[in-house]
Amino acid sequence: MERLTIRLKIDPGEALLSLIHRAAKANGIKFLTLLNMLKRNKYRMHSGDSHKIDIFPESVLDVKKVSYILGLEESEIKRASFTNVLRSFKGSSKEVHCRFLNGIIRDHLFYCRDCLSNKMVLNLMWKVKGVDTCLIHKRKLSNECSNCRNELLIKDTNQIGICPYCKYCFNKRNINPILVSDDHFKLQTRIQSDWHTIIRGLINKELNEKEIAIRVLYVLGGKEETFCKLKILTLLEDTKLIHLLQIARGTMKKRTIDFKTLSDYLTEKSTSITEFLLMKVPPDFTLSLDSNRVKMEITACSAPWCENFDVNNSLVQTTSKNVRKKVEVLKRYYICPACGCEYATNKKNELVERSYFINAYKVLSNRSVSTLTWMEREKVFGLKRNKIIRIQAYFYSRALFIDLINESKYSVEANLLESVKISIRNGEAIYTIRHWEKWRSEEEYLLYRYHPQIIFEIFKERYKFLPRQG
Ligand SMILES: [Zn+2]
Ligand SMILES: [Zn+2]
Ligand SMILES: [Zn+2]
Repeated sequence: MERLTIRLKIDPGEALLSLIHRAAKANGIKFLTLLNMLKRNKYRMHSGDSHKIDIFPESVLDVKKVSYILGLEESEIKRASFTNVLRSFKGSSKEVHCRFLNGIIRDHLFYCRDCLSNKMVLNLMWKVKGVDTCLIHKRKLSNECSNCRNELLIKDTNQIGICPYCKYCFNKRNINPILVSDDHFKLQTRIQSDWHTIIRGLINKELNEKEIAIRVLYVLGGKEETFCKLKILTLLEDTKLIHLLQIARGTMKKRTIDFKTLSDYLTEKSTSITEFLLMKVPPDFTLSLDSNRVKMEITACSAPWCENFDVNNSLVQTTSKNVRKKVEVLKRYYICPACGCEYATNKKNELVERSYFINAYKVLSNRSVSTLTWMEREKVFGLKRNKIIRIQAYFYSRALFIDLINESKYSVEANLLESVKISIRNGEAIYTIRHWEKWRSEEEYLLYRYHPQIIFEIFKERYKFLPRQG
């Protein structure tokens, strides 16, 4: 085994495969010949194996040989590949290393022509799906040959910067670059710095599958202190949730969560991979994943008219700090997505209503208020007039107690209901909707505001929930 006469320095951010290509050229030997000097087992390497080199060099190369022949530190080899990413996230999964990163690593070349015109070196970061901008030149990466327009498959590459199909050389500056907006540049800077951190192994942390599953559930649940199944079910199919729970509870050891799935979850909840690695999950959260505990903490909506009435786990935990009166210490806050009633648990762990509809329901079940004056109604409900107007609208839009409260002059029109819904989806504030000119009165607005469909729409918008799939 001989060292190469000319041993090149690896560039910052350069991919191992790129260095091997450059080293072959500098020493006047064929790329495949050099690859076969570095290979791990007795089988001949062919260009189809080359994409594995940047993912996990150990799978095909003898790292000791690579280190000696090319004159590289072993830590440099790791940083020029996705080895550190695998180390942090793969757990004890038996899956082939390269498969673990399926859907994350590109099999064809993305490159910056201006970078290549300076130096024929390929950046490892360009292989990550989602990375599309050169941060040095502030422009979009190319993903095809600028001459023959073919995608450049990595396994077909013979020499860096030369199209394997038409032999065009990318050593000239890009005269028609696609520039990127400031916002896109910022986003790419964030994404790439996140990847930079894990590729270089700057956070020395290896998570096992159990830890990964617990963190994923914590992130998906909006980092609440306890696990809420229903909240996660608005994001995930139940089979996927059950799978995650089994891994988190350690009742299923075999499969791990592949990186693409993990990364989709994190993107969904705007959490960086770095943050995920550094995250501290409160011990209470981990305890609440225990199946026995989950059963103990069942919460059900207690609004008699609600479809979730007495349905276990029908409430969603919220972080609402919107406490109106501090008469007693409240611990956890909940909302029912179906009827909009809000709850909290008190010191004794009892569920108490924070909104005032259930109480009003009890009042209206016992007596009619239609003939009462406002003062008398305030006394009966124990609430101010503005709240009573809301209560009336709330029940009126559900066709409840219509003859017991003042009959409404207005009715709900489908088109108008739809436009309220769309405005909420587009992020329009309730306050703005309330002041629309088309409302003939506050009473008319309230009929829509408390309509079941609008209650659910506001709920989804407020907690950024996606409608459940399937
Ligand atoms: Zn560049
Ligand atoms: Zn070409
Ligand atoms: Zn309810």
